[in-house]
Amino acid sequence: MKALQYRTIGAAPEVVTVPDPEPGPGQVLLKVTAAGVCHSDIAVMSWPAENFPYPLPLTLGHEGVGTVAALGAGVTGLSEGEAVAVYGPQGCGRCAKCAEGKENYCLRADELGIRPPGLGAPGSMAEYMLVDDARHLVPLDGLDPVAAVPLTDAGLTPYHAIKRALPRLVAGSTAVVIGTGGLGHVAIQLLRALTPARVVALDVSEDKLRLAREVGAHEAVLSDARAAGAVRELTGGVGAEAVFDFVGVEPTLATAAAVAAVEGEIAIVGIGGATLPVGFGSLPFEVSVYSPYWGSRSELAEVLALARSGAVSVHTETFSLDEAPRAYELLHEGKINGRAVILPNG
Ligand code: NAD
Ligand code: ZN
Ligand code: ZN
Repeated sequence: MKALQYRTIGAAPEVVTVPDPEPGPGQVLLKVTAAGVCHSDIAVMSWPAENFPYPLPLTLGHEGVGTVAALGAGVTGLSEGEAVAVYGPQGCGRCAKCAEGKENYCLRADELGIRPPGLGAPGSMAEYMLVDDARHLVPLDGLDPVAAVPLTDAGLTPYHAIKRALPRLVAGSTAVVIGTGGLGHVAIQLLRALTPARVVALDVSEDKLRLAREVGAHEAVLSDARAAGAVRELTGGVGAEAVFDFVGVEPTLATAAAVAAVEGEIAIVGIGGATLPVGFGSLPFEVSVYSPYWGSRSELAEVLALARSGAVSVHTETFSLDEAPRAYELLHEGKINGRAVILPNG
């Protein structure tokens, strides 16, 4: 089968032919319908050889939906042809965090060498993919596969970050979304669906700000040195009860710190690599800073349910598997509006 692989440190990913995978005991083979292109892959492909954490070659793709093609020995409860989404941040299934469905925070995944598809294990940018356990599969139940695939990360990750801040996002409050790309444009819709908060979007690109307004941001502000002042002004000096930074570089964290309200929350979701100093007096009183990773199994089911209700619609641009390297180039250049989605069997 064909697969998109990152093969050589520093080189672009390539479409190659690899052996067809066969499901072992307990595994499920999916024929991949759609695979989402995440900015995290670009970060992964920028890491130096010395501390590259995964074996190469690596089949990319940590957002995946497909149809059940074959069941390994002992797998029950799924039927061939069923359309499913893959829960990516897979854990051991047995530790205290996994028991709560928070496999993204599995206590034993590292020790057991369990890695998400596309982030260590072979991912969804291939004609077929293996899933290690049927519990990682959530039925699409009528959702369009292309529109649904980004929900497994670009939807789930902001959903998890926003859920924690919900008690702060009461009527009259303000939520700031920094970076309105794949994750950010879904975050705006989730905030509108789940809270009465005023949503202020920040980005460096006019195209992205246009999309932000289109999907429900009340205000869209250019992300520059004046952005924090503009947000303060919009909030009558109070600031934002919740700030979601989907970039995580020095200037965006500075903005996040400058716009947070007393007792506000700052979620650092973007893996831009910068840090935010936290200490008495460095932030308004009682601001909480957290750096969430992906989301739980039950939250994925919730995000899909929300999409079924019509509250969230992801903007997508589709590419064939052969065009996938180009999709990464365009994402790197900031030229994807919404989420790029690869159709490995399209
Ligand atoms: P994306 O490229 O689709 O979106 C990033 C957006 O940020 C773009 O619209 C870009 O114009 C904007 N941007 C860049 N610099 C900016 C600045 N200085 N101010 C404001 N906006 C700016 O990327 P994505 O796939 O949505 O991912 C967003 C980030 O989240 C990435 O860092 C990615 O690695 C990370 N991520 C983290 C998790 C997690 O679990 N923590 C999960 C998925 C992705
Ligand atoms: Zn991702
Ligand atoms: Zn676990």
